[in-house]
Parts: sequence; C-alpha cells; structure tokens
Amino acid sequence: MTEENLKHFREKLKQMEEDLQNSLEQSNYTTEPISPDTSLGRLTRLEAMQSQQMSFEARRRQKKRLKSVQKALELMDQGKYGICVKCENEIPKGRLESMPETRVCVNCSPRG
Ligand SMILES: [Zn+2]
Repeated sequence: MTEENLKHFREKLKQMEEDLQNSLEQSNYTTEPISPDTSLGRLTRLEAMQSQQMSFEARRRQKKRLKSVQKALELMDQGKYGICVKCENEIPKGRLESMPETRVCVNCSPRG
C-alpha cells in the first residue's frame, strides 16, 4: 500500500472515529432509565422501553465499531494496516474502502 493510500484511509478512519464519538455523546442521555410513574400510557411506555432497548443496542454496536477504528489506527502506526491479522495477506483496497476498520480479509472474516 502506498503512502497516499495510507493517508486516505487514515483520514477515513479519523472521520469515522469522530462521527462515532459524537453520536455516542449525543445518545448519552437517551439511555436514562424510564421512570415507572411516567405519565405515558401503558403502550407508549412499552414503546419507549423498546426504543430505549434499540438505542442501547445501537450504542453497543457503535462502541464496538469505535474500538475497531481505533485499533486500525494503532495498526497503521505500527505499519501493519491493510494486512490480514489471520493469514497475513494484503486486504484488497476495495474491501478497506467500504470497511476501513477491518483487520481481516474476506476469506478470514466470519461474515464474509
Ligand atoms: Zn486473511
């Protein structure tokens, strides 16, 4: 991978890191517990709990992704970015373009 490519992916990763951190900050106060004496009707309360559950899940996924992004940036500093951590083959640029935080090639990825 050329210096130019690395710079391109570093910028992408930095942007992702920033976006994820922002959205995690913004969703902070939506995870407050729903008070039992809330004046909402029974159904709306259920809906509120469901949507809270969903945002909790989304938050969990975002945190996980943020970790991968930061790990990828670490690897980049060590000069190991774009190399599959399992088989040590180069990860095709097309794959990195859609998933800059990935650390495995298509063959080694559990999701393909
Ligand atoms: Zn691999």
